[in-house]
Amino acid sequence: MVVRFWGVRGSSPLTDRDKLEVGGNTSCVEVSIDEEKKIILDAGTGIRMLGKNLVQEFQKTGKAPKLYIFFSHTHWDHIQGFIFFAPIYIPAFEMHLFGPGRANRHFADVFSGQMQYDYWPVKISHLPAKMAFYDLSEGGYQLEGIKVQAKRHIHPGIAYTYRIEYGGKTLVYATDTEHFKGSLDERVVQVAREANLLIHDAQYTDEEIEAKLGWGHSTWGQAIQVAQQAGVEKLALFHHDPDRTDEACFAIEKEAQRIFPPTFLAREGISVVL
Ligand SMILES: [Zn+2]
Ligand SMILES: [Zn+2]
Repeated sequence: MVVRFWGVRGSSPLTDRDKLEVGGNTSCVEVSIDEEKKIILDAGTGIRMLGKNLVQEFQKTGKAPKLYIFFSHTHWDHIQGFIFFAPIYIPAFEMHLFGPGRANRHFADVFSGQMQYDYWPVKISHLPAKMAFYDLSEGGYQLEGIKVQAKRHIHPGIAYTYRIEYGGKTLVYATDTEHFKGSLDERVVQVAREANLLIHDAQYTDEEIEAKLGWGHSTWGQAIQVAQQAGVEKLALFHHDPDRTDEACFAIEKEAQRIFPPTFLAREGISVVL
């Protein structure tokens, strides 16, 4: 698996000059499986550039990979890039979209709310790409040899951590997750067990989180605790606060590496081979 970060910023996209080395786009991670298929985690504004890249490849090769798109949840910063995702306007692309189901509303309805005519001129049903939506509940799924596990974690509304296993490698994506004051959410530790790479929410510092309890995010220190307790190989700090400058992000990375050396800052454009 090759994991590429297209959007790493939490909450709001930004163009502030002192934050662009880390990146200004919101959550989007590409997981390349093989030439025929890809997994995409969330559709924040980072998915726009990923889409351009996919279309360029398609124009060169004439082949469109099948896309499996998993949504941690439907807050704006995880869905708002979708309408700018070029493959949705091209009939050759086939995509399968998975997100947390609700008791009385389908994921598709919640997700496509952003494309109501008041907000966007193209209805989801008029998009030329082939699209199928699925309500996910907690549990394990099999997709063409890819094992996916969805686990609920603490966040306003319903949000999932995903564990993806393929070819003997494991990636865990745990963004927009909060822990308890003084103890970790054991579900996240369990689902991250011995992953090759854990991508974990690291929006706040210890000082900041005091005023943000209940907002659904972690400190970078909690991300490290999860990584250590779960015995993961590498940790990516993710979903950086929109007020955090490059300088402050790199200072956190340095400090984090002192505590847990295989930690790195998720930055827009970098790839990790598992
Ligand atoms: Zn978010
Ligand atoms: Zn959220």
